[in-house]
Amino acid sequence: MKHDDCIFCKIVEGTIPSAKVYEDDVVYAFLDLSQVSKGHTLVIPKEHTRDVFDMSSDLAAQVYARIPKIAQAIKTAFDAKGMNILNNNEAIAGQSVFHMHLHLLPKFNEGEGFEAIWKTNEDAYTSEELETIASSIHTHIEK
Ligand code: 5GP
Ligand code: ZN
Repeated sequence: MKHDDCIFCKIVEGTIPSAKVYEDDVVYAFLDLSQVSKGHTLVIPKEHTRDVFDMSSDLAAQVYARIPKIAQAIKTAFDAKGMNILNNNEAIAGQSVFHMHLHLLPKFNEGEGFEAIWKTNEDAYTSEELETIASSIHTHIEK
């Protein structure tokens, strides 16, 4: 169901213009205005979905099934050397538009475009503590 106050629903229906990359019955792909790197594309489900926590596994499967061919096309079009694929969920994790989207961020040169910063806490946990953390998550995975 579309949400009247959602800018990405408006992009899907065409009331807000966008530079369309690809469209089919499930997804709409268009250039992110910010163009963090040339070809930076957003892939969204047409069906309004807030974020990963609001997404069925069936819709996730259908959306992600489209990612390799769109990623390959971006890579081929501009001879990208690599690509980050990113999805922010909730404001604390950097989400600013609350319609689920995957960022496809082609990478051309080190020090340009999207830079992933991983703060490692590798030394902070024993293997037993890692087992406890994994078990806590596993308990909540729906069968
Ligand atoms: P988020 O921060 O939610 O992961 O990413 C939202 C993205 O949507 C941002 O990178 C921003 O540049 C992009 N964006 C926001 N409004 C518009 C718009 O009206 N058109 C397009 N093409 N991109 C938008
Ligand atoms: Zn929406």
